[in-house]
Amino acid sequence: MADDCLFCKILAGEVPSSEVHSTGGTYAFRDINPQAPTHVLVIPRRHIANAGDLGAGDGGVLAEMITTAQAVAASEGIAESGYRLVFNVGDDAGNLVPHLHLHVLGGRPMGWPPG
Ligand code: 5GP
Ligand code: ZN
Repeated sequence: MADDCLFCKILAGEVPSSEVHSTGGTYAFRDINPQAPTHVLVIPRRHIANAGDLGAGDGGVLAEMITTAQAVAASEGIAESGYRLVFNVGDDAGNLVPHLHLHVLGGRPMGWPPG
């Protein structure tokens, strides 16, 4: 657990969250400020700052994050209608929380490119 990391505190149960799915290496919970009818964050249980810090040895945790996102999409009923998976990295992307998280967004049509 990284000091003063909000999502590490969520993993530790020190900050409440609304669980959607959980696996050995990942945790999925509802975003507090949803941007779509379904807006879930998938995080690794291991602290990784962001996708810019991932390396070739992180394939396992990345695959587990994707399969968790697939399970979220299925349980939320958006697997067929479609959904968006987003990693924000750094300031220009609006990356606010420095613990790797995959946004799962769906339940409405989303334009491209995003605003
Ligand atoms: P980022 O902008 O870093 O990619 O995304 C961070 C996300 O975390 C934002 O969508 C924001 O709404 C969400 N968030 C920030 N604080 C909390 C919190 O305490 N609980 C939950 N569930 N989501 C949070
Ligand atoms: Zn963390």
